[in-house]
Amino acid sequence: MTDTSAHARARSEGADLSDRDRAILAAVDAGFDRALDDLKALVRIPSVSWDAYDPAHVQASAEAVAALAEGTGVFERVSIERAPIGDSDALGQPAVLAVRPARGGKSSVLLYAHHDVQPWGDESLWRTPPFEPTEIDGRLYGRGASDDKAGVITHIAAVRALAEVMDPEVGIALFIEGEEEHGSRSFQRFLELHADVLRADLIVVADSDNWSTETPSLTVALRGNVACNVRLTTLEHASHSGMFGGAVPDAIMAFSKLAASFWDEQGAVAVAGLTEADLDVPEQTEEHVRAEAGVLEGVELIGSGPVLARLWAKPSITITGVDAPSVPDASNTILPTVRFRLSARIAPGQSASEAFAALQAHIAEHTPFGAHVEYDGVDLGDPFLVDASGWGATAAKQAMADAWGAAPVEAGIGGSIPFIADLVRQFPAAQILVTGVEDPGTMAHSPNESQHLGVLRKAIAAEALLLSRASERAE
Ligand SMILES: [Zn+2]
Repeated sequence: MTDTSAHARARSEGADLSDRDRAILAAVDAGFDRALDDLKALVRIPSVSWDAYDPAHVQASAEAVAALAEGTGVFERVSIERAPIGDSDALGQPAVLAVRPARGGKSSVLLYAHHDVQPWGDESLWRTPPFEPTEIDGRLYGRGASDDKAGVITHIAAVRALAEVMDPEVGIALFIEGEEEHGSRSFQRFLELHADVLRADLIVVADSDNWSTETPSLTVALRGNVACNVRLTTLEHASHSGMFGGAVPDAIMAFSKLAASFWDEQGAVAVAGLTEADLDVPEQTEEHVRAEAGVLEGVELIGSGPVLARLWAKPSITITGVDAPSVPDASNTILPTVRFRLSARIAPGQSASEAFAALQAHIAEHTPFGAHVEYDGVDLGDPFLVDASGWGATAAKQAMADAWGAAPVEAGIGGSIPFIADLVRQFPAAQILVTGVEDPGTMAHSPNESQHLGVLRKAIAAEALLLSRASERAE
């Protein structure tokens, strides 16, 4: 199905909807106020998963989510689980696992979201208290109101609407993580430990964005990341810049020349071996990006080609920190060593380890004066590209078109969701769909985060339709 026909379908006001589809949409509407109340109750729990915050709140939020899962009456088993972090004995934050096995040889769907939230930051920047859910002009304000407690509620409310209309044969596993905002530290072990019940034909990750409040997105491309610290050293010790400057190379000079080699004149990445993806991107104006990013008047954007291709399909390199003396500490010395944090985003289609090797080769070749190079703090995350032609993506796009009355945009994200790579590794046969409840006004992670309630309703409807249609599909 092409996007144009989806638009036509949308404009025909759901003429192709079956009686069951209509019953599901009616059940979603009828259950929406309850879903909103449930969302508000979750937002009241300050479930920040970071170490410095009270873990009792994350536990309370896991218990609240488990109660919601129980309350659907759909799951055979609901439990709160904690998996070890890597090979250590330490346990990650509590996650909720709810399972309903497939019947009659039908397919299985894994529904993912997370119930932990980002810290609220400076409370004076919030117009409403961060943990007092507040409705203003069709949006619900509060930390986690969107990211990702609205994702949790989307799954719960979609399952409820489904069960009201039919006795679904589709297998449903619900996995609501408790530490996505804290690096998903126990995610991989969690998948391993519960692989039997989590294994699914289709995985729905409800933790992403929509194109607008009127147009849904299916996120089909995520850039990966390569981050590392690089130390350049030229001398055994600092030396007087008057005595030796002009003959003895300092580390800052080596760093500046190396850093300049990362980009071409237009600011595009100039590292051989970092690839680009061939993605069809929607139109977006440079003005839109400038406004969203707060680019100052007279400052030019970098790179070339369609602006969304630069953000979704091409690599980028950012230096996010430099360890060097601060200006108040500056003395007349030639610096022996400097360390910087290099943060690269890599295009879908290239593995993070291959990209890291290309960066290391570039640095080896472009470090001037024979400066010594050392690495530490390496962090690699693979990019992700959805096969948008699989039955899952096709069914999801149709369900979105039917629920929203607008065809979805196949979107990319410049950022990374590293745990997607864990899902791909653990369940290579599954189709992974990245959906979401956010919109450009959401301000996830920022003060005044909010959820657009129309988007929430449509996201629930789309997921309920998708589940009902998956319930017809044999494995
Ligand atoms: Zn999130």
